[in-house]
Amino acid sequence: MTEKNLAQVIRENMKRDNKRFWAGDNISDYVSEEDKAKLIDEATVAFEGVLDTLLIDRETDPNSHGTARRLAKMYYNEIMAGRYDPAPDATAFPNDSEDRYEGMLVVRSELRSMCSHHHQPVSGVAYIGIIAAEKLIGLSKYTRIAQWCARRGTLQEELANDIAREIEKATGAQNLGVYIQAVHGCCENRGIMAHSSLTQTTVLKGSFKTDPGTKKEFFDNIKLQQEFAPR
Ligand SMILES: [Zn+2]
Repeated sequence: MTEKNLAQVIRENMKRDNKRFWAGDNISDYVSEEDKAKLIDEATVAFEGVLDTLLIDRETDPNSHGTARRLAKMYYNEIMAGRYDPAPDATAFPNDSEDRYEGMLVVRSELRSMCSHHHQPVSGVAYIGIIAAEKLIGLSKYTRIAQWCARRGTLQEELANDIAREIEKATGAQNLGVYIQAVHGCCENRGIMAHSSLTQTTVLKGSFKTDPGTKKEFFDNIKLQQEFAPR
């Protein structure tokens, strides 16, 4: 009997616990730092098999020689890192003094993601708006959280929901909006080969949804950011 590989053991653990492990799910509770090196070894062997099946000579083609390992490392450490890494630490500071900030805060976050259907790159920007609640997090944390959600296999619609949920968790703000504008490799590089693959998704919660004034302020802020954002 062949010994089970680590990926198999982890999959069985997740199934036993009814833990969902879709491409967009974070499974950091099941994958330790030490596991990662072993999983990269296992994924390397699997990618070697894919390259062999694609009839690419990875022995004599110098450019394909280390490709299987490069792919394995890229998936674990980069393009899908948000599945295996725990949530970024976003220390919250109290926002409850007399002169607390009560206005709207809009942060523009660059995103790199990957569509879970075709594993093609998705790149774009998320605008995250909140009305500050009782606590605040550092400005860079909004982007860290958004990127952590994005570095998985995603659908843009899901990604907008995920970012909204995680920002809500980290800030306690119930009034918030997330607007994403992104181009999709799966539309540009294959299929319809369309250059106009710009896709926009919006998630609005609380007053962003119910109060037209707040909603307008959010989109006015986005427009200002789009006009003046350093390119
Ligand atoms: Zn796709």
